[in-house]
Amino acid sequence: MTAAHLRMAWLALGLSVAGAASASPAAQPVPPAALGFTPEHAAAEQRIEDRFKGIPSSAEERVVLRYLTAEPHPAGSARNHELAEYVADTWRRQGLENVEIRRYNVLNSSPRSISLEMLRPVRYVASLHEAAYDADPDTKNPHVRGGWVSMSASGDVTAPIVYAHGGNPEDYDVLQRNGIDVRGKIVLVRYSNPYSYRGFKALTAERRGAAGLIIYSDPAEDGYRPEYAFPNGPRGPETHIQRGSITYDFMVPGDPLTPGWASVDGARRLSPQQAQSLPKIMATVISWHDARPLLEHMGGPAAPADWQGGLPITYRLGGEAVVHFKADMDTSVQPIYVVEARIVGAELPDEWIVLGNHRDAWEYGAVDPSSGTAALLGVSHALGELLRSGVRPRRTLILCSWDAEEVALTGSTEWGEQFADDLRHKLVAYLNVDEGVSGPRFEVSAVPSLAPLLVEVSRTLDDPSGRTLYEAWREGARLTRAANHIHVPVNDANLVETRIPGSSDDTVFLSFLVRPTMTAGFVGDDYYPGIYHSVYDDFYWMEHFGDPSFRYHLLMSQFWGVTALRLANADVLPLDFELYGRNIQTFVDELAKRTPPGGHLDLASLRQAAVEFERAGARLKRTVRAALAGRGLDARLSQRINAGLLAVEGNWAIPAGIPQRPWYKHMIYAKRFNYDPLQLPGITEAAEAADWDTAEQQATALRQALRKSAALLRGLADDIGRATAAG
Ligand SMILES: [Zn+2]
Repeated sequence: MTAAHLRMAWLALGLSVAGAASASPAAQPVPPAALGFTPEHAAAEQRIEDRFKGIPSSAEERVVLRYLTAEPHPAGSARNHELAEYVADTWRRQGLENVEIRRYNVLNSSPRSISLEMLRPVRYVASLHEAAYDADPDTKNPHVRGGWVSMSASGDVTAPIVYAHGGNPEDYDVLQRNGIDVRGKIVLVRYSNPYSYRGFKALTAERRGAAGLIIYSDPAEDGYRPEYAFPNGPRGPETHIQRGSITYDFMVPGDPLTPGWASVDGARRLSPQQAQSLPKIMATVISWHDARPLLEHMGGPAAPADWQGGLPITYRLGGEAVVHFKADMDTSVQPIYVVEARIVGAELPDEWIVLGNHRDAWEYGAVDPSSGTAALLGVSHALGELLRSGVRPRRTLILCSWDAEEVALTGSTEWGEQFADDLRHKLVAYLNVDEGVSGPRFEVSAVPSLAPLLVEVSRTLDDPSGRTLYEAWREGARLTRAANHIHVPVNDANLVETRIPGSSDDTVFLSFLVRPTMTAGFVGDDYYPGIYHSVYDDFYWMEHFGDPSFRYHLLMSQFWGVTALRLANADVLPLDFELYGRNIQTFVDELAKRTPPGGHLDLASLRQAAVEFERAGARLKRTVRAALAGRGLDARLSQRINAGLLAVEGNWAIPAGIPQRPWYKHMIYAKRFNYDPLQLPGITEAAEAADWDTAEQQATALRQALRKSAALLRGLADDIGRATAAG
């Protein structure tokens, strides 16, 4: 499809919506669709949104981003505390309410010193630092640290070095078949494409008995192009280092010493030895500049063809060369700071929409996460100004600036655990932005119930390319799928990615609290993985390559804010369970294909329950739409409908958690240890382990949840039907 075709598709949809609106009894110009609003309220909402969109500016977000990225600001640093005060002051000045800085005392990690040296057959001292450039003075700041990983153990090891490709279990099997024992050795692995979480590489190395883990970025997969390398181009140069954490947050995120409860003053704490998510292995990250001499001299048999990388050498399995690796880490309980502000809802103060973004960065973090913070402060600017002119949303908006996301999703997890009882009942949706802008291509992932709203919002916004955001988004999705050989045509029902792992601050809301979540951002081809988590993710990169005009920053604010306002002001919450039901059927079908149950598991009745749930969702949607287009719903009835809609999402909660991972309580969503999204996690993992009793228990729980939710949705539709008939 070409852009012209997309334009036509959009026009066709626009016409059909306009046709429906002119046939409605309220024969007045109303905004197209506006899910969940009466025509009158939709018109009012559009006036609010038009004002909202005009308040923030690219120029202001540029200034904010420069301030946020003036110094490195990792979790636990004085600068990140200073930025917490800055965000709080800004929110107070902008007119937000209940501005608070919440302190949590959490296990944090920073390097005292890291060293890596090859002793034999040649001596090479790894620099562990990234090159500085005159063109970008920020790269010369003495506060910038070298490569290290959060939550590495401390240690001092001299041992042979072995190359283990991507560091996944199957890679160690290859080594074993080649007679190479990694026990007591230092393992060199590379960041792989597709992505595999570095914490999983650490757990795998630990389980295999390695003494230390070194992770490097290979030019075969870090996007390196000499002619495009930083600072002349947008790609990472040969010394770039991808920092990161190795916390085992796939088992339980947040402070490893308080799994499942908040790290507030006086909280009970595990000892580090008891902490399941705390790695026991020492690890660090290096550039391919530093990895090359190690790879060149490690000896041993040649590595398999598919283990060869982008360096002009023969990659070998190693075992002959000896390295000295030392990591002296300060891993201790330290304060982190979550900033929180509200706009209390005028009519439904106990229904909350939370917008969040983390503040801590590996170094400057212009993309990750400061572009998101700049966009969030644009949203708050506009909300504060609307509030001053008397426009208060119906529901409560809460804005959060998280800390220590990069360590273990820590700040959001502790906050979510602290306020779990309220959030489970009051949270309508959590809207996350992490890497707000690294390029022009819009990407959104969300639970299916939110997807139609997000698509609808995109139709109302202008993309810097001159199209609507919706058109630009569809075209970007089409190109991405073509590049990845995914032969699924783009349509409105699959534009939002609904296979969501929860890998940012959305995790606690999705997996622990079991509430609807979304994560959105603008991405580009140059950022990941060569710039990501390196010193080069800085203001210079953003200003020259990422978003020189800062118009995508502004658009990020507009998308985020308009989505929040629609959720906050809707008569009936725009949550779509028809699409959710269809997605669950797809997940069941995929499971049946991947892990055929062979008569052990009744997936047919599970699928049927999802079909019934989809039908109930479709019927309620039709009923609500007709009621809203007609005489509307009285306050008591719409309150009952909204309470019911909120309850549906909570029905996916399995209170005991999925097997082996009690913190993860969502029946539909979790992530695998390597961070791949995992749908129907309890059933899938049990089926993969051929533990059919557990799989059946998990399937039964989901079947019951689907039936309960379908009955609830049918009941709501009946209520509306009765009220409409009576009125
Ligand atoms: Zn981030």
